[in-house]
Amino acid sequence: MARIDRLRDFVQAMTRLADAGVGEAAFQAAGAALLRDLVAVDDWLPDACAVVGPRYRQYLLHCDPAERFSLVSFVWGPGQRTPIHDHLVWGLVGQLRGEECATEYRLGPPGTPPQPGRCDRLRRGEVAMVTPGSHDIHLVENALADAPSISIHCYGGNIGAVRRHAFDPVTGEAQEFVSGYSADTVPNLWDRSAG
Ligand code: FE
Repeated sequence: MARIDRLRDFVQAMTRLADAGVGEAAFQAAGAALLRDLVAVDDWLPDACAVVGPRYRQYLLHCDPAERFSLVSFVWGPGQRTPIHDHLVWGLVGQLRGEECATEYRLGPPGTPPQPGRCDRLRRGEVAMVTPGSHDIHLVENALADAPSISIHCYGGNIGAVRRHAFDPVTGEAQEFVSGYSADTVPNLWDRSAG
């Protein structure tokens, strides 16, 4: 039985931060500490949010009712990767299982390929950030060739509804997309009968 109380505690702590009206940078920094605690132990993610699909999956774990933050389980099968994309809201990535590689990109002049930069290899328990205006464009992939990897992402908005961009790897051309989510259900945080 998943220890859903850990997920509930995270959601409640993030909600309190949002209610306190701390600035975006402080919200992201405090969220990073909370996410580090959440991914430090791997006993709370419901199995339904860990299922590998034919392409990478993004299971919504919780969206704040006022859409001030959202939490998503990203599940990568071997060889699966995102397009080069932006976020336009702050984000946090915490590695729960396996390992992933995030390569930062910088856009060049129109018609030229985006330039890859640093590749951050994220290992279990580690947390990375994306920030609009400075470190917002990247490509993320499973770093393991023979096993799934799972990372838990927290964003400063309802990420599945944000109108953002994927970039062509050859021409750099931006294409608008809205990612949505991979399932129509979210974990039940509110049954306290199990503790
Ligand atoms: Fe991303």
